[in-house]
Amino acid sequence: MTTNNGIFIAGRWEKGVSAIENRNPSDLSDVIGHFGQAGPEQLNEALAAARTAQKIWWRAGIQKRHDVLMAIGNELMARSAEIGELLSREEGKPLAEGKGEVYRAGQFFTYFAAEALRLHGDLAESVRPGIEIDVRREPVGVVAIVSPWNFPVATPAWKIAPALAFGNAVVWKPANMTPASAIALTEIIVRQDIPAGLFNLVSGSGRDVGQRLIESAEVDAISFTGSVAVGRSIASAAVTRMTKVQMEMGSKNPMLIMDDADLDLAVAHAANAAFGGTGQKCTAASRLIVHERIHDAFVDRLVKATTALRVGHALDGDTQIGPVVSESQLQANLEHVEIGQKEGAELLCGGHRLERPTEGYFMAPAVFANTRNDMRINREEMFAPITSVIKAASYDEALAIANDSEFGLTAGIMTSSLARASHFRCNMRAGCVMVNLPTAGTDYHVPFGGRGSSSFGPREQGKYAAEFYTSVKTAYVFSGEPS
Ligand code: NAP
Ligand code: MG
Repeated sequence: MTTNNGIFIAGRWEKGVSAIENRNPSDLSDVIGHFGQAGPEQLNEALAAARTAQKIWWRAGIQKRHDVLMAIGNELMARSAEIGELLSREEGKPLAEGKGEVYRAGQFFTYFAAEALRLHGDLAESVRPGIEIDVRREPVGVVAIVSPWNFPVATPAWKIAPALAFGNAVVWKPANMTPASAIALTEIIVRQDIPAGLFNLVSGSGRDVGQRLIESAEVDAISFTGSVAVGRSIASAAVTRMTKVQMEMGSKNPMLIMDDADLDLAVAHAANAAFGGTGQKCTAASRLIVHERIHDAFVDRLVKATTALRVGHALDGDTQIGPVVSESQLQANLEHVEIGQKEGAELLCGGHRLERPTEGYFMAPAVFANTRNDMRINREEMFAPITSVIKAASYDEALAIANDSEFGLTAGIMTSSLARASHFRCNMRAGCVMVNLPTAGTDYHVPFGGRGSSSFGPREQGKYAAEFYTSVKTAYVFSGEPS
């Protein structure tokens, strides 16, 4: 792949001021490439070009924006196998998940292509006779997008698509862990007939390029997905400048397994939600809160299902769980396993590094039992193939435990009781609640986000996305004295 490339500014590809090496986490002998890091001048040029291009793009009108987004979406879907393979090679999720992610990214673009046509406003009567009022949505301007590595194509896509659909320009800082995926997405976007500077890719580390980007006075809005710590610092910087901000951050998603649940389905959904994407999903189920009446049977089956999962090279068709993304993430995971054991949790399976034919960051998925909700493994986000079982004596106790968290992104319940399901829907403090479904797995046309430390600012996705990517203007027009 490209050598020291990966910077796209003002309508052209550039080399970085330095480069990083990127290796396949399934096979460390596989060098994916060397990728450029944007310098401060390149970032400034990107921001200036974005400012100019945004005005041209907004004037181009909704048909143009629709057509461009539709073309991007269609190409992503048509090339999902090819780009999905690159994504899996770089990030480590199994091939089917990599392809699925790229296809989903395409759906975000085709969905927002249509939303570009639906940017309707309101008309109102004035309380003062002879005046007409209209309320319209205008672009916010230049949007900074900062995204994580775990969904290196889908997460930026769900930010870039509404940004462009509603007439904004974009300066995107992807995660340094996944630069090849960022380039693949950028190539498709910038191949379209768009003004030079409308879309800019400024690769580099968060501390360097990311920090400069979010502190820039040239940025009108910041959309961020990542950790709570970084989110907090971005929010402070944004408030100082009164920059609009939207953030999706950490989680500690609970899944309640009730005594009236279909046990096989509960085990399948829990294992899927806990270990899909190697547990590196913000929607992963990390606290399984299980009714004491079925606790032992559930735990027994969960351990069997977990140990049967095939961990291996992401591009191997047999693989169900790929490697962890990096050495430092793997070390942090192993540390969390140790912390759990020191706190008195019982490790029933996994939790150790695995050897495979290729050298990579493979880890056996871990199940902890006999845990309490106040243990660190149940408070802190791990972003790991580790899940904890907490025993509860009743539904009410399970719900109270579920709600006892600083986070509130997704939450699930497995039950055959309509009354419990309804009560849970209404009383679970989370942005997304799932009934008889895994906590992970969401649609592209409805809002996504959480409560507490999980999210901040307006929701992403669906028609709610317009709230962040546009600014409302109320116009008063004197229409003449009433006759
Ligand atoms: P992270 O460290 O917060 O990084 C996220 C992004 O922010 C990366 O592009 C990173 O750049 C950049 N960044 C880091 N420091 C920055 C700074 N000071 N200023 C500006 N940008 C900065 O998160 P991560 O560890 O990569 O990703 C995992 C986290 O993302 C988890 O906590 C997970 O819960 C969260 N996540 C949340 C959602 C959601 O929708 N709620 C979805 C997915 C992931 P570099 O990495 O290149 O340095
Ligand atoms: Mg990081």
